[in-house]
Amino acid sequence: MLQQTQASRVAEKFPAFLRRFPSPQRLAESTELSVLSLWQGLGYYRRAKNLRAAAQMMVAQFGGRVPRSVQELQTLPGIGRYSAGAIASIAFGQAAPIVDGNVARVLSRIADRRETTKGKIAEAWLWSTAEELVRSAKSPAVLNEALMELGATVCTPRVPRCGECPLKRCCGSFKAHSQEFVPLSNSAAPRKTVVHHACVEIRGLKIGVEIRPAPGLWAGMLSPPVVESSSVYSAAKLMRERRDIKRIKKFQREFEFLTTHRTVRIRVYQVEFHSGAKVRWVDVAKLNKLAVSNAVLRMVNVAQKNMDA
Ligand code: SF4
Repeated sequence: MLQQTQASRVAEKFPAFLRRFPSPQRLAESTELSVLSLWQGLGYYRRAKNLRAAAQMMVAQFGGRVPRSVQELQTLPGIGRYSAGAIASIAFGQAAPIVDGNVARVLSRIADRRETTKGKIAEAWLWSTAEELVRSAKSPAVLNEALMELGATVCTPRVPRCGECPLKRCCGSFKAHSQEFVPLSNSAAPRKTVVHHACVEIRGLKIGVEIRPAPGLWAGMLSPPVVESSSVYSAAKLMRERRDIKRIKKFQREFEFLTTHRTVRIRVYQVEFHSGAKVRWVDVAKLNKLAVSNAVLRMVNVAQKNMDA
């Protein structure tokens, strides 16, 4: 839950999640929708789906327990080298390295390595350095957590607080006064733009939703029907794409929603569905308790504010 999500938001959701799914068995037996609804508001919903799939694999292959070795952990869906190292070292006390953005920055500065932290050579150096350190530590968990915490709170990207840093005596960048440009910045990948035409009908206290198809953004979650495209559709084309729409009452508003790699232009249409349309009607007021993304909550808010009678 904490990957790329603020701790304060996770703190609101974690206890209820653990109460409902106290073991891999209970999570493995759940439905995807029930897991997604308890994940609501945390974003990056693929993590929830992977966690459920990982629980199923733990039951099928590891006797219902979380495996302990980095190699076994990495066979679980959604668990890469970083997560496997974090679980193995912090939960099971094994000498497994972890490298995230914070650790990469700290290690680069201590060695005064004037390179980016991305790419095969840089990553190999970071992982082998982190491994060397963790193998020499009394407590792998304390070392890994300390490196991450130091990067998050003291050795920050801009204006690191070197005066308070316990590593300043052995830090190459501190000695060379190069800490503000080490490591060199990784050039960001260009962000892709997609258009979501959201077809919203609110009837009294209910709203029409469906399960988003896979593959696609927010697949498996509930949402008013959406037509996804790379450019803006005319209303007539939208009607052709969604044969269950009887009429488009009006185009309401467009807003942008940013995900990790995409800019999603969400265009909200007020529509009327045919009586036989395969949408579920759910209470608008209870939408935030269901498996919906924050984009959907914003979409519905726009629809309610701009609705024609
Ligand atoms: S001395 Fe400064 S640059 Fe070096 S590790 Fe500490 S905070 Fe980072």
